[in-house]
Amino acid sequence: MTVTRGRQFFQNPGPTNIPDRILRAMDRASMDFMGKDFAGIAEFCFAGLKRVFKTEQTMFVYASNGHGAWEAAVVNLFSPGYKVLVLETGRFSASWGEMATAYGIEVETLPFDWRVGVDPAKVEERLKADTARDIRGILLVHNETATGVAHPVAEVRKAIDRADHPGLFLSDTISSLASIDFRMDEWKVDVAVGGSQKGLMLPIGMGFTGVSKKALDATQSARLPRAYFDWRLMLGRQPQKFPGTAPVHHFYGLAEAIRMLDEEGLDQVFARHARLAEATRQAVRVWGEGGHMRLFGTDPKLLSNSVTAVLMPPGIDAERVRQTALDRYNVSLGGGLDNLKGKVFRIGHMGDLNEPMLLGALAAVEMSFKTAGIPYTKGGVDAAMASLSY
Ligand SMILES: *Cc1c(COP(=O)(O)O)cnc(C)c1O
Repeated sequence: MTVTRGRQFFQNPGPTNIPDRILRAMDRASMDFMGKDFAGIAEFCFAGLKRVFKTEQTMFVYASNGHGAWEAAVVNLFSPGYKVLVLETGRFSASWGEMATAYGIEVETLPFDWRVGVDPAKVEERLKADTARDIRGILLVHNETATGVAHPVAEVRKAIDRADHPGLFLSDTISSLASIDFRMDEWKVDVAVGGSQKGLMLPIGMGFTGVSKKALDATQSARLPRAYFDWRLMLGRQPQKFPGTAPVHHFYGLAEAIRMLDEEGLDQVFARHARLAEATRQAVRVWGEGGHMRLFGTDPKLLSNSVTAVLMPPGIDAERVRQTALDRYNVSLGGGLDNLKGKVFRIGHMGDLNEPMLLGALAAVEMSFKTAGIPYTKGGVDAAMASLSY
């Protein structure tokens, strides 16, 4: 058996590195979740989450992963046979749509080139054509973790408004929340879906939804079956709004995460992610000189600041990069999902991350090319260092 020392680097776009502060905050005895102390912690967490989502509307927290929060959004808003429009930009948006289909919702997919991302003009055109107003919901993934493309949620909102369409606007912010700016209220998002293990730096196991007044109204007449995720039941259980026992340890961790975000300041958090992402892109551009690989996303303005997807040329299996980095250097990268399997590998750069951590991961990637015999141009890490040192 090989013994490894040091930490496994999580450069997978979720889960992310959990800061020691959060681990220590969770290393506590159980607390009575009906007591006053816990009520205070929960209140702090709900208020903090609202600041992070940039909403003053209703927040729900679930003991679930992101998929659970996706499901909560779907089952609370719609009725059997209702139609939703899925803006398909990669594996995550497609999966969300599949979940809606499983619940008997009619899913219409508006496909986009995964390398380019969503085109708001096409959204507007489709919604204008929906003269009967059959489309009840529009589902967008803000940051497509599978492709490394971050979509302009505000522009999609404007497209919906230009079409004067009444559909509910749902946005997944799982891999953008607390990494890339997301403004639920300003962008008039009706349901924003988040998870704990990405920008919030927590273990897996908490899902979140910010819910607008319009969405809360819709839930009253929605007829899909629901129990655990039923917002009507949750609203009745004040102040924690929890069906069953609240996951108190996750709340301890979340409170610490919110304190950390408050100390750094959200704008600084976003700036740090932008800096680390740019260094990653510089590295990829150098590795790719001579056609060895390229950034998957084609529009430089839409490249994600929380994850970078790298497209390998035909004949080179991207999985070998991921596997080599993991087996040889103990760095966890993301692989290609769905039809990008073997074509793309992904470097996550979100959450509790600084320059030397990122450079360590990028160096492991560069070493993995050499170890795996994959052609690349030397100097990617140098380019990243140059971009980070000033
Ligand atoms: C990670 C992720 C999910 C799924 O979250 P889970 O916690 O794994 O269920 C959904 N959407 C996006 C954009 C993600 O990055």
